[in-house]
Order: sequence, then C-alpha cells, then structure tokens
Amino acid sequence: MRLEGGCLCGRLRYRLERVKSAYWCHCTMCRRASGSAALPWVSVAREDVTFVSGTPAVFESSPGVARRFCGNCGSPIVFDMARESDVDVTIGTLDDPDRVPPTHHIWGSSALHLARDLGEGLPHYDGERPSDP
Ligand SMILES: [Zn+2]
Ligand SMILES: [Zn+2]
Repeated sequence: MRLEGGCLCGRLRYRLERVKSAYWCHCTMCRRASGSAALPWVSVAREDVTFVSGTPAVFESSPGVARRFCGNCGSPIVFDMARESDVDVTIGTLDDPDRVPPTHHIWGSSALHLARDLGEGLPHYDGERPSDP
C-alpha cells in the first residue's frame, strides 16, 4: 500500500511504501512533541519513506532519536531511532489517515485518562459546537 501525506503548510510532502503496523503512542515525549493527548503512528522501513518536497527540520529528543518536523509550520512527521531499521510516521499527517487504523496502544503506563477512551460518551458535533439558543 502506497500512502502520501504532508505537513499543515504544505512545504513538506512525503510518500510511504509498505506500512508495517499502526498504533497509538501514549508516551510523554510524543505528547509534548505533538501537543496532543496521544499520537497515532505507522511504522515503515526507513528506505520506504521519501520526502518528495521539502526537507524536514530535526530535533534530537534523546541520543540517537531524531524527530523530523516541518520547520515552517511545526507538524511532527517522523520518529527515527538510529538503531532501528523502521521509522514511524504520524498518521495525522497522511492524506487519508483512515486507511491505516491503529491496532494497538503502547506506553499505556503513561496514558492520560482523557486519552484512554477519547471522551467516549461526550456529545459529538459534526462541526463547531452549536451556540446556545
Ligand atoms: Zn509545514
Ligand atoms: Zn511516543
């Protein structure tokens, strides 16, 4: 399966071949890197990720761990651990994220209560919250 994606501003565009797995990460570093309660990722062999436009900026979040993101708009794109052959790419930056539904969660020991059920039971609105009458 070939997938394409890009950052919020459009400067970075990438292509993925052969997604291996998809999962939610609840670790504190992904939380801070994304500003979200949890972050969904796909795992792909490093050679199967191609940036077709733009060059990502890099933040070394731990020794040997590169987090690649758009230096213009800040979208997090790639988690790259030098000693692994696979890298991870944020599902939220894919053009069609629903093609790769996550199959498991990792770092559940750090999971926020609000991310365990994603607010199950709260009202859902198709757009913005309607204003009160
Ligand atoms: Zn951007
Ligand atoms: Zn994480």
